[in-house]
Amino acid sequence: MRKIVVFTGAGMSADSGIKTFRDTDGLWENHAVEDVATPEAWVRNPGLVLDFYNARRKQMHEVEPNKGHYALVELEKYFDVQIITQNVDNLHERAGSSHVLHLHGELGKVRSTRDPNLIYTPDHWEIKLGDVAEDGSQLRPHIVWFGEQVPMFETAIDITQTADIMIIVGTSLLVYPAASLIGYVAPDATVILIDPKAEPPSGRNIEIIRGTAAVELPVLIHKLITNENKKKYA
Ligand code: NAD
Repeated sequence: MRKIVVFTGAGMSADSGIKTFRDTDGLWENHAVEDVATPEAWVRNPGLVLDFYNARRKQMHEVEPNKGHYALVELEKYFDVQIITQNVDNLHERAGSSHVLHLHGELGKVRSTRDPNLIYTPDHWEIKLGDVAEDGSQLRPHIVWFGEQVPMFETAIDITQTADIMIIVGTSLLVYPAASLIGYVAPDATVILIDPKAEPPSGRNIEIIRGTAAVELPVLIHKLITNENKKKYA
């Protein structure tokens, strides 16, 4: 089976009703990222940070995967599919995708502030000041904040290098190091970018589809499956 690596950003979940980050004037749900999504914000005002992620977690349980998420599940019948997502929601998993790597962490998980290996999956959306891990330290969101290391980045590079086709969906390609992944795609691999405001990164041949994930991803995936079947039965 040929390998398709799908690299998704906030635009992938926009059609499910979760706002992107850049489309709202650089604010994330009315907050400046430096107030809610940095290690400094956590030190300054952990209550605000917990409230912000509680609201995101609550919303995640209220929304549903969209047609783009489901089309990626269908693709698995014909290709070896690996998703690398910058999203912290769980919509790829809830749609049924089998292989999802979260580069920036997961809203559904929390962890000890002292020991990054103490990770939990609470069955409720609200985490309060005073909720502690088994080592007695405050629980924090299991999220890679701006300015923190991206522990899964090396794994993401290894996966990207194996792609025959890379599909990039709904990302402004502005958040690093995630955006630099594209530089690790093999020179002979096909790269396709779906985004209503797609700006092709320079230095490589990329097929651009200007449109939304819920509309354009099912169309593209139908084409890829049809072509793959033609090859198989030719
Ligand atoms: P971004 O907000 O910087 O860019 C979003 C991109 O999505 C834009 O290029 C926009 O044109 C495109 N877009 C908007 N609507 C779309 C649609 N319907 N279909 C396809 N594309 C659409 O997002 P980013 O590049 O992923 O970086 C933002 C960071 O913020 C990420 O690291 C992520 O962790 C975090 N974030 C996550 C979520 C989530 O988990 N759902 C939501 C907001 C922000």
